[in-house]
Amino acid sequence: MRDVSLITLILFDLDVPTTKTASALTCLTKDEVSALEPSACINCARCVEVCPERLIPKNLADAVEHNNEKAFLDMYGMECCECGCCSYICPARRQLTQLIKGMRKIQLANRKK
Ligand code: SF4
Ligand code: SF4
Repeated sequence: MRDVSLITLILFDLDVPTTKTASALTCLTKDEVSALEPSACINCARCVEVCPERLIPKNLADAVEHNNEKAFLDMYGMECCECGCCSYICPARRQLTQLIKGMRKIQLANRKK
C-alpha cells in the first residue's frame, strides 16, 4: 500500500516542475489549509463508527499525545491499517491517523531492535 503522506507535497511557489508521476495538482487561491487547524475532540464517536478495524481512534490518539505506549498497545493500536477514515470523518479535524501511524512506526522499530 502506498504511503499517501509521502507522495503529497505542499508547494509554496510556482518555480517547481511537475513530473509524470504527479497524478493531481490542487491550487488554492488563499491559505485554506491553516484555516483547518484541529480543535478539541467533541466526543461524537464518528471515528469509532467508521473504523474498519473496530478500534477507538480517539482514545488511541489520546494515548499517543500522552506518549502512553502501553495504553496504545493495550487498545490494539497495532491493528490499525492506516486507512485514514477516522481523520477524514473527524469534525474536529484531529490528525488521528497521523498520530496512530507515528506510534505504530515507533513500535515496529522497537520490535526490530
Ligand atoms: S486509520 Fe486506523 S484507527 Fe483510523 S479508521 Fe483506519 S484503521 Fe481505524
Ligand atoms: S471523530 Fe473526532 S471529535 Fe469525534 S470522537 Fe473521534 S476524535 Fe473526537
